[in-house]
Amino acid sequence: MFKCGLEIHQRLAGRKLFCYCEFDGKQSKEDFVLTRKLASVTGETGEVDAAVAFESAKQKTFHYSACLKNSCLVEADEEPPLAVSQDALNAVLVLSHALNARVLDEVYFMRKLITDGSNTTGFQRTALIAVNGFIETSKGKVGIQSIALEEDSAGIIEKTEKESSFRLDRLGVPLIEIATAPEIRDGEHAKETAELIGKLLRDSGLVQRGLGTIRQDLNVSTGGERVELKGVQDLDLLPKIIDEEVSRQKKEGVKKGGETRMIEEVKSKYMRPLPGSARMYPETDVLPLVMNSELLEKNKTKIVSSQEKISLLLAQGVSKQLAEKLASSKEYALFEYLIDSKADAQTIAATILETLVSLRREKIEVEKISSQQLFDLFSLYATKKIVKTALIEVLKDLPSGKTPEEVIKEKNLRKFLPGEVRKLITLYPDKKKAFGEIMRTHRLNVDPVEVQELLRE
Ligand SMILES: [Zn+2]
Repeated sequence: MFKCGLEIHQRLAGRKLFCYCEFDGKQSKEDFVLTRKLASVTGETGEVDAAVAFESAKQKTFHYSACLKNSCLVEADEEPPLAVSQDALNAVLVLSHALNARVLDEVYFMRKLITDGSNTTGFQRTALIAVNGFIETSKGKVGIQSIALEEDSAGIIEKTEKESSFRLDRLGVPLIEIATAPEIRDGEHAKETAELIGKLLRDSGLVQRGLGTIRQDLNVSTGGERVELKGVQDLDLLPKIIDEEVSRQKKEGVKKGGETRMIEEVKSKYMRPLPGSARMYPETDVLPLVMNSELLEKNKTKIVSSQEKISLLLAQGVSKQLAEKLASSKEYALFEYLIDSKADAQTIAATILETLVSLRREKIEVEKISSQQLFDLFSLYATKKIVKTALIEVLKDLPSGKTPEEVIKEKNLRKFLPGEVRKLITLYPDKKKAFGEIMRTHRLNVDPVEVQELLRE
């Protein structure tokens, strides 16, 4: 009987799972290289399972290229893991809710033995967060068996018989692992299910975007043992991959204990035996997490599709171009927060998507600006204490930690009151030239529309 399930790994946005480093996928030049050998590893029960035996038979040396910008002593396994990233945990809870899954009362991190060197510790930390969910598809519900939070491995650079080289930057980035029940009917259904889950992840705004941030593995069995297929590159190829695998299994059968295979184009190649259960044992450096009702309630937010977001933004007066950009941006949550300042939506959208980006290019540390500072700035703008052209001047000084009011005072950016503008107008007897002159000398303190109105008085 045909059975098929999907396993989706998606990198989450924000800091790493057990330290404060961040890696957004952009590789930097290495600062140094660490070299290690993996001690022979066995499970706590003393069993050496098939997968471990297979790899540890090769006595290999591992090299890790480290970059101080996105890795620290935790990745180097010189320091124990720090507190679990609350953002990553919250993200998994929001997604678990969206996938109708039941969150466990207590969450325990486990160590999954990894002996190929892609983890400096020799294991990957993983925690089961939720179970028994489902997603609606055109062919009915597909069960979501489990949702886990885990750390990404180090990226491979080069592999030879005796040595492997990895990059440390990716190690420890939080991943959500979503495993469906083996309820996928056929290849087209696999494609649809993977696309639906992928869309939900993107719409949440909680995940990293771009090449390599999502991985889909497939489990296929045609009656006997299970085969795990790794390395699906293109969801459009899923139907073909599944067809090929089904006919291959019928022809060749499946090795006892199951197989892990790598997809190349649409055919699969044998990698190693399927890992057994002896690979997991408790992580003693990380405390169990209690999932209380307050935490769960807080994370029951609805995930809005990017189409819905775009309509919402257009209705609020955001231009089509910015609405489309914002709807698929992780800054959407920030926009939603700032809109309560009562400032106009277009100005908020343009500021976070354009002004802050151009300031970053000018080497201004915009990441140090807090959402509270932005909120206060937009409140001042909404109540006409400052004009639009002056916003950027305030933004430039916010990374210092000063409040917008302090910056406005220091840099004389207060908007002139109508009485003050009237007084200014009297300085220019030639009314035709007045507007240009006033805008040239006081553009940071006056609103052009207001000046024109007062000139007509
Ligand atoms: Zn780190």
